[in-house]
Amino acid sequence: MRLLIMGPQGVGKGTQAALLAEHFNIPTISTGDIFRYNIKNKTELGLEAMSYTELVPDSLTNKIVKDRLAKEDCKNGWILDGYPRNAAQVTALDEMLADLDTPLDHVVALEAARDVLLERMKKRAAEQGRADDTPEAIAKRLETYEKETAPLLDIYEARGLLVVVNGVGDIDEISGRIISHLE
Ligand code: AMP
Repeated sequence: MRLLIMGPQGVGKGTQAALLAEHFNIPTISTGDIFRYNIKNKTELGLEAMSYTELVPDSLTNKIVKDRLAKEDCKNGWILDGYPRNAAQVTALDEMLADLDTPLDHVVALEAARDVLLERMKKRAAEQGRADDTPEAIAKRLETYEKETAPLLDIYEARGLLVVVNGVGDIDEISGRIISHLE
C-alpha cells in the first residue's frame, strides 16, 4: 500500500498516518519529522534546513524523500505525510515512483474547518511546545497550504486516486473511515 496523506496543518495527518502505518504494517515518512529530528540533532541536513524560514527548498526535500523511499523497509509500501507540498514536488515524486516502478495507490485528503484546525494547533502548541507553533506561524502555514498544497488535490482527483475523508470526530472513528475507503 503506497499512500499520501494530505490536508492542512492540524487536521490530524500525523495521528492518522501512525494508525494507518500500524494497520498496513508500513512505515510513515514525514518530511516535517525528518527536518525536526535533524534540526534538533544539529546534523548537516538540519543546519541547512534551519537556514530557511518557511519551506525547505524542493531540491533538498526531494532528495530526502528519494533516499528514504529507496530503503529496504519501503519495499511493501509507505505513507508519505507532508510531501508533496507543491506542484514541483508532485512532478519530482512522479519521477521517483516511475523510476522505482511503484505507483501510488491512494491519496487520502483529510478535511476540517479552519476554526477546528486553529483550535487543535493552539492545543498542540500548549501541550507539545513545538517551536514552530506560534500563532503567526500557524496562520502563515495555513495560508501557504491553501495557496500551494490544496490545489494538488485536483491533480490527484483527476488521476482517480483521491479519497476525501472528514477529519472531525473521534480518532478511531476517522481511521475507520479511511480504512473502509481503502479496502
Ligand atoms: P510539517 O510538520 O509537515 O508542518 O513540517 C515542518 C516544516 O518542515 C515545514 O514548515 C517546512 O519548513 C519543512 N517541510 C516539511 N515538509 C516539507 C516539504 N514537503 N517541502 C518543504 N518543506 C517541508
